[in-house]
Amino acid sequence: MDELKDKCGVIGIYLSNHDDSASRLAYYGLQSLQHRGQESTGLAVSDGTNVEHFRALGLVSEVYNKDVLGSLKGHIAIGHVLYSTCGKAVIENAQPFVSRSKLGTIAVAHNGSLVNYEPMKEFLEETGSTFTSTSDSEVIIKLIAKNYKKGLDRALTDTIQLIRGSFALCVMTEKVLIGARDPNGIRPLCLGKVDNGWVLASESCAIDAIGGELVRDIAPGEIVIINDDGVLSFNFGEKTSKKTCVFEYVYFARPDTIMDGIPVLEARKKMGEVLARESGVVADVVIGVPDSGLGAALGYSKASGIPYAMGIVKNKYIGRTFIAPSQEEREAMVFVKLNAVKSDIQGKRVVIIDDSIVRGTTSRRLIQILRKSGAKEVHFRISSPPVKFPCYFGIDTPARADLISAQHETEEIRKAIGADSLAFISMEGMIEALQSCEWEEGLVEEYPDRGQRAAKGSISPSGASNCGYCQGCFLGEYPMPMIGELGKR
Ligand code: SF4
Repeated sequence: MDELKDKCGVIGIYLSNHDDSASRLAYYGLQSLQHRGQESTGLAVSDGTNVEHFRALGLVSEVYNKDVLGSLKGHIAIGHVLYSTCGKAVIENAQPFVSRSKLGTIAVAHNGSLVNYEPMKEFLEETGSTFTSTSDSEVIIKLIAKNYKKGLDRALTDTIQLIRGSFALCVMTEKVLIGARDPNGIRPLCLGKVDNGWVLASESCAIDAIGGELVRDIAPGEIVIINDDGVLSFNFGEKTSKKTCVFEYVYFARPDTIMDGIPVLEARKKMGEVLARESGVVADVVIGVPDSGLGAALGYSKASGIPYAMGIVKNKYIGRTFIAPSQEEREAMVFVKLNAVKSDIQGKRVVIIDDSIVRGTTSRRLIQILRKSGAKEVHFRISSPPVKFPCYFGIDTPARADLISAQHETEEIRKAIGADSLAFISMEGMIEALQSCEWEEGLVEEYPDRGQRAAKGSISPSGASNCGYCQGCFLGEYPMPMIGELGKR
């Protein structure tokens, strides 16, 4: 499925031995977060005195080279990959953002979306700030910079209390690395340990990629300040209520990531098992739409006893879809991107599992591919409930009018995409699948910290046992009051 897109991934590195290779580690971490954003990337690096900064349009593997990384020496780094919903890709929107003043330098990398961006921007403009981008993340750095004279801790907490929406932040100054997660924990952020240092990352797969170990997730409403003394954690004072984005598990996160105590691949397999129980069908083979439908297909096969087969191959070398400008061309890209394995399909009754249906166009093309390859029947199963409402928290969804499930009942959608049968997982079934994947052991380790550990008890080693999930795009019930229908920026 390629119709929803995440906006960003963030990483932060602090090397306590002051080795100057933080940018190299951040670069490898960003490679592992590339799936979260492919339009632009950037790094900010401090050697304790100066902050160097680099941003470029393109993939991590394309834009960094020896010379670029060689010019970014220091023991503190933050990095970012971006998929922007703010119109065309422009360098001005690339992150991290950096603010320099006589008080010092601040850099910010943000994953998420602010729902009070417009009033905050107006307020800042009225009080003298100027903006260089159309990114809501620039509001965050302007607010921190504005309050910096009160001290960093105060500037951060004041800023965080003014902004509303979803945010997983990596912030740095010349001397410290800071992580923060919004009071609902909508976007992920975790803490890891490397030799002689610490890592903050959107997903644990980035910590694995640099040879580190996941320590724990940052709790909703938690700030961590990392320096030579270790990790200081405190809650920024808001009432917290965990509402992690369900789509992180369904689609966005890498299958090898563990997020808020839930291994993502396990969650997908469980969703497939629940789907098989809720909407079983007589068939010869189960296949998944690469990549995020594969886990659910394995689970469906296990629970139903119907053999699993590869069925569809994805061309991994297709570039970003924005090179196909029109809707028609984007749809045609499905044929270039995905192809059926005829020997798995021909003459068979096929169950195909995808993670979601957004506009329905990709699903229709997929079914055409299977029929052309000789499938006798095609039964479409979806491992998320129908998407009926837009997302305002960092996921690029179409307007409501373009969401097929907002406009049509399941039977009408089945006819439109040309399937023999169609079923979505129920909301209850999806939450049951997530909750059954709580990881009981081994996620929290001792680490040197000072002050109050707000995280303790908020996200316990038992993971999501007390956690809720955002269900906004399914039910229209968002983690915070929405002011009317916000325009899509
Ligand atoms: S509205 Fe949907 S996509 Fe957006 S954060 Fe909530 S669950 Fe995720």
